[in-house]
Amino acid sequence: MKFTRLYNLLCLSAALVSGSLWAENLLGPQTAPSRPKNIVIMVGDGMGPAYTSAYRYYQDNPSTQEIEQTVFDRLLVGNASTYPAPVSGYVTDSAAAATALATGVKTYNGAVSVDTNKRPVPTLLELAKKRGMSTGVTVTSQINHATPAAFLSHNESRRNYEALAESYLNTEADVMLGGGQRYFSDKLIEQFEAKGYQVIKDAALLDGVTQPKVMGLFADVQLPWAIDEPEARRLSTMTAKALDLLSQNDQGFVLLVEGSLIDWAGHNNDIATAMAEMHEFAGAIEVVEQYVRQHQDTLLVVTADHNTGGLSIGTHGDYRWDSQVLRQVNASPARIASQALSEDEWQSGVSGALGFTPSGEEFSALDSARMQGEKVLTSQLKKLIDQRSNTGWTTGGHTGVDVQVFAAGPASSLFAGHQDNTDIAHKLISLLPKPAKAKPANAKPANAKPVSAKPVSAKPASVLPAEPETIESPKTEAPETAPLEAEEKAETTAQDIAAMNTSAQADVEAQAAELSEKMQSTASEPDAEEAFRQASDLLSEGAESQSAAPVSEVDNQD
Ligand SMILES: [Zn+2]
Repeated sequence: MKFTRLYNLLCLSAALVSGSLWAENLLGPQTAPSRPKNIVIMVGDGMGPAYTSAYRYYQDNPSTQEIEQTVFDRLLVGNASTYPAPVSGYVTDSAAAATALATGVKTYNGAVSVDTNKRPVPTLLELAKKRGMSTGVTVTSQINHATPAAFLSHNESRRNYEALAESYLNTEADVMLGGGQRYFSDKLIEQFEAKGYQVIKDAALLDGVTQPKVMGLFADVQLPWAIDEPEARRLSTMTAKALDLLSQNDQGFVLLVEGSLIDWAGHNNDIATAMAEMHEFAGAIEVVEQYVRQHQDTLLVVTADHNTGGLSIGTHGDYRWDSQVLRQVNASPARIASQALSEDEWQSGVSGALGFTPSGEEFSALDSARMQGEKVLTSQLKKLIDQRSNTGWTTGGHTGVDVQVFAAGPASSLFAGHQDNTDIAHKLISLLPKPAKAKPANAKPANAKPVSAKPVSAKPASVLPAEPETIESPKTEAPETAPLEAEEKAETTAQDIAAMNTSAQADVEAQAAELSEKMQSTASEPDAEEAFRQASDLLSEGAESQSAAPVSEVDNQD
């Protein structure tokens, strides 16, 4: 046994040396990824490729021949598939997609960082916290909506908003900014204050905040549409403040920024509102891009969780998309409709808000819609804007098309080309600092696949509220990736560039598998934990992969 281990170690060292030489030759030392101190991950909810293309034409200056690049064109590096766990088919929801991005584990639609067996899986932000980093989220939805929730917490259903809000007490997140007042009772807010949070409900007070921890709840649910308050630039303001507060930690930070309402506008098939939300999100990306330029130790990764609405740039066989129409709309259809219903002479107000005067025929359609109430009038206004701009939609839901990946800063080359959304999490997690455990100089993680251990101490779902009827019940099946494996696998992903397949890997894997098998067949739970530790230690001896840390990380997922 001892001899085999020694042999493995030798093989592994040789492989690492040749692997890193190979990588250096291929990539050149200047492009070799280095580890960032800070990570900012930004998610455009629902922002499929048609949105970034449409935004380019929406932003195009019509007085120049050239079509100007956007921040998305500038930062594009690759794309990502978004499919959830097989039980939910090919089309993901935001919860499963955010779970994939935050944990590297595919799960069922509706799940908030729990696997298909409803067991909590550690998230990027939780792991960062455990490594002494600061964490934050800034979003335009309520802060306990699916995407931020999947980075901060765990629940078998995204619909359990109250439980998610309460669970944030235990996240130790340093900055949480967005909407959601209705989910945070006065009593709950007192508990946050008792934990040292400054809780503010007025965005104007954000300016005066100079230290974490802060929770800002600036709306009852989501923030106002950007198209209705374009000067506010709320996401940019919140993001700049979050960067300012989080960068006070010398050990670095991980920040999630979400342009949440792109998706909401997409569900509404509301192109004018969607483009304004894109502009809001693009502005926030530019804030971070600027930060990355000034802080070269900061990695920025931007992606979408999925595509929403099946947006089509041009429709009905007509080769035309009129972005000029959209640039002139200066209020959301919902707001235009509500205004029109409160006025007798509503036509001039509608023309002013749309930026064009509808034809007689268009006005009569609006008039009959107005008589049927606000909802119907809102729909008719959206239809009119679609017709004028020649915008198409295929669904009020999500679609399964791949999304794009954008990146800047150290290690951004890791995100080039095609990847799965879970790979993004694996790469980001692999870039976190190592858990506090001495490691020998020059040792690098090998390309060894860690043992597929069952999660030994993930708390069962009993602490979680009952499943709502809207969520498809996941089948009982082995999780695709156990939580422990998720992180360990992540640890190797980034290093794959340097360390290629080796016989040592096979040996380490075989030994790990042997231990794993032994553990699963004979061990009671405490024994299983011990067996896993042995397996981990074995792996870390050869491969310097993370060992005991993930165990406790799973332990703490209450
Ligand atoms: Zn959605």
